[in-house]
Amino acid sequence: MQFELLIKGGRLIDPGSQTDAMRDVGFAGGRVTAIDADIPADRARQVVDASGAIVTPGLIDLHTHVYWGGTSLGVDADAMAARSGTTTFVDAGSAGAGNFLGFRRHVMERSRARILAYLNVSFAGIFGFSSNVHVGECSDIRLCDAREAYDCGREHSDVIVGMKVRSGRIAGGSSGIAPVDVALEAADKLQLPLMTHIDFPPPGRSEVINRLRPGDVLTHCFKAFPNSPIDGAGLVREDAKAARARGVVFDIGHGMGSFDFEVATAMLKAGYAPDVVSSDVHLFCAHGPAFDVLVCLSKLLTLGMALPDAIRAVTTSPAKAIGRPDLGSLAVGSIGDAAVLRLIAGSFPYVDAGGRTVVGTERLVSDGIAVGGSWWANEGAGRIPDLGAYVPHPPMSHTAVSVRHFGHCQAHAGSDAGHGHQH
Ligand SMILES: [Zn+2]
Repeated sequence: MQFELLIKGGRLIDPGSQTDAMRDVGFAGGRVTAIDADIPADRARQVVDASGAIVTPGLIDLHTHVYWGGTSLGVDADAMAARSGTTTFVDAGSAGAGNFLGFRRHVMERSRARILAYLNVSFAGIFGFSSNVHVGECSDIRLCDAREAYDCGREHSDVIVGMKVRSGRIAGGSSGIAPVDVALEAADKLQLPLMTHIDFPPPGRSEVINRLRPGDVLTHCFKAFPNSPIDGAGLVREDAKAARARGVVFDIGHGMGSFDFEVATAMLKAGYAPDVVSSDVHLFCAHGPAFDVLVCLSKLLTLGMALPDAIRAVTTSPAKAIGRPDLGSLAVGSIGDAAVLRLIAGSFPYVDAGGRTVVGTERLVSDGIAVGGSWWANEGAGRIPDLGAYVPHPPMSHTAVSVRHFGHCQAHAGSDAGHGHQH
């Protein structure tokens, strides 16, 4: 047998090699060993029928939380891999220097899916995250130590692809911009990129974005007000434009609260498609609104992103962001990671982080993946996440709660005082 695995009859979309054509892909010894218009089925031990499907490099989800059991927000990468076409999960700072060993030994080394990681600048990683507990890992600045981060990053340089910092009032309390500066110094010493999360100011968007270097990643790039890249008039902010121009990577990082249809629509309309589409999947958004990276990708397709651009945003672009071009392509000789996806038609209710629904007509689903040249079918219960099962419950402001209870003051004033009354 020439091939251990043959994915036959699909439309190969590989942005890295600028391929979009009907191609068969043969795997042997963990790698891609042939790509051709017609490879006979009898040359392979296992044949996967990809007729009517799209074959891509294995998807790389650049922002995930997969430190299962070791952190309260971790999900099981292996339970999500085949259903979401994901062969590489990049964990975004679940672990810091103080608990990275456990992540490596107990999760990475026994996982069938590939797991790489951004190292949290906070020594403890994301330790206090649940529905009832929110203690940001950067809220005590004593936890942010560049020396600990540097040493851990150097020791685990085979699996650590960059530094991570969550800046903002939730993750950083009153620490302001200081954790970002510590993370940048560690990243510089390691000669690795920094992925930065933003939530609520302080620090403000400009303070963070203007610090990012070419190749650094801004995650939650299409988040809603405040710290949105869109201003009050619906236009792209200058600092966001400047960051894009100098090569800062814009990453979706959907998650529980960080993707907004209105912002995304405005950004796409202005020509600012995201560089990377990632899920920020964790325990509190895996059942919606994010689900997984395929659902997130389907949302971007629904908002008008072209299919080849969308595929690029989960293959070539994240591979480049983590300095692993060998993972994001399907050329002969590359690592044998692939996804077999189908674009299905129907009526799909997509919900953003603010609870707004957009009904799409297309959805990407997965037949399965190849990891290191070995086939992993998407089968069993939960094969396709049920979008309709998600009921959004976004937090309400005091004003919104008051209006629900008492009604609008302006409406009252108008009806009580008659039409002639002016404020
Ligand atoms: Zn995250």
